Amino acid sequence: MCFIVTGCKYVAQMYPKQFALVVHPCAVGLILAGTVFFTSVEMFYVVPLIVGTEGLLYKIAWLVTIFIVFNLLGNMLACYRTDSSVENLPIDRQVPTPEEEHLWHHCDYCQVLRPPRSWHCKLCKSCILRRDHHCIFTATCIGHNNYRYFFWFLVYMMIGTFLSLATHLILFIINEDMRKNYFLFYLVRLDFTYLQKIYEFGFQFNCINLILVLNVYSFIFPLIMLGYQIRTIYLNTTFYTATSDLKYNQGPRKNFKTLMGKRGLWTFFSPVIRSPLLHDGTQWETKYLDINNC
Ligand SMILES: [Zn+2]
Ligand SMILES: [Zn+2]
Repeated sequence: MCFIVTGCKYVAQMYPKQFALVVHPCAVGLILAGTVFFTSVEMFYVVPLIVGTEGLLYKIAWLVTIFIVFNLLGNMLACYRTDSSVENLPIDRQVPTPEEEHLWHHCDYCQVLRPPRSWHCKLCKSCILRRDHHCIFTATCIGHNNYRYFFWFLVYMMIGTFLSLATHLILFIINEDMRKNYFLFYLVRLDFTYLQKIYEFGFQFNCINLILVLNVYSFIFPLIMLGYQIRTIYLNTTFYTATSDLKYNQGPRKNFKTLMGKRGLWTFFSPVIRSPLLHDGTQWETKYLDINNC
């Protein structure tokens, strides 16, 4: 994970224009194609084998799927469309007042003073308020204004891929005919002979196991990213300043509201729920740090 992040960061720093031109469409396309693919496999193949297509359970499964896909893609779109750059601030807030001038820092790229916790992004060509990182999957920087959408985008990606994995497991447990189509069946019996005769298995065997492997990978990725982001919220740090930014920590509850807005947890239910942020991203409360304990 660190190796991939470092590699991407290096290429993005060296060739920002080419990086954005190639990587953004590929990464966004991967999310869109993955969502369509897994939704189709689940709702037209796996779930019908478990509950059929006639009953109430299948209708409920569709409602849950629509809710998850709406929130996944809705938060992704809102994240892309919500600007966290300093240029998005009212003109009078783009310059510090005399009292806060000592807290602002100089950006070598923009050649002006910038608010605390804002950092320049070469890909976005601007300074981003409370910059967390540049996300290739939403093709934008994650900062003060769009953090909420990015967080729920990850949560819904994890929920969707987890439920997809869970349905495979249920199918494996309850459907005797399908069980032998999963390599899990041979793995739990420590029967490795299937590796020698893998070419003998049918199309269904190969497809279902390939989907399962892709599903495991697509579940692990948001899970790892979410781990980083839960730590970020818990300590009010950022992806790149996880250990050096601790002075902004106001406790988990206040940190959560600062990043998600006044409606806090309600933002889970939809990206269209309005949740005004506590401030404009230029003034950050700090807590006293005892340097002897640092
Ligand atoms: Zn800048
Ligand atoms: Zn950026």
